[in-house]
Amino acid sequence: GPSLILASRNEHKVRELGEILPGTDLRALPEGVESPPETGVTFEENALIKARSAREATGEVVVADDSGLEVDALDGRPGVYSARYAGEGATDAGNLARVLSELAETGPGGAEGRSGSGPGHTARYVCVIALIDDSGEHLFRGTCEGWMIQEPRGDGGFGYDPAFVPEATGPEDGRTMAELTPDEKNAISHRGAAARVLADYLIGN
Ligand code: IMP
Repeated sequence: GPSLILASRNEHKVRELGEILPGTDLRALPEGVESPPETGVTFEENALIKARSAREATGEVVVADDSGLEVDALDGRPGVYSARYAGEGATDAGNLARVLSELAETGPGGAEGRSGSGPGHTARYVCVIALIDDSGEHLFRGTCEGWMIQEPRGDGGFGYDPAFVPEATGPEDGRTMAELTPDEKNAISHRGAAARVLADYLIGN
């Protein structure tokens, strides 16, 4: 299969992407290649910044992803700041705590408020994958719609998963993203959706 360099050092993302692109020789960025600052204000800009830097360093076919959570009641925040919402060096737990405290201040969302029993504060995960090959720059986008709950649940996934209930599992399910198996998460996740569009592109080439 095709050989790609993934411009990321986030283990969770590398593993999740590898699971979605079987048959692809996915390799991490070689040691010593520096990661550029993510100065973009959109997922597309940041994915391209990372991909261009990896392309310049390696000359190979590269992919880079940028992803995050958009909460409607917070005007789309944390958005591109998802990884560092509680400040530089922030932990997943710190970032999640900040989002939940800001949401608590906005009051209940939706018809059933913050009970977790139904759609409350609507949100979505977004993932943009940038690929650079000899034909140029290509962007692939995936989203996963859902809502936020105030009491985090589950040990799977990472980041905001314990407080995000995806819509795609159906209205009766109610599990958070962190309560899904890896296969269940990949089937509905933003990263899965973007990676499948990428996979279609790779197959077509
Ligand atoms: P990036 O590494 O700049 O793409 O930032 C991604 C950040 O968005 C992560 O650090 C998480 O905070 C959040 N995020 C992205 N994808 C997911 C996911 O699948 N689950 C939970 N949080 C995610």
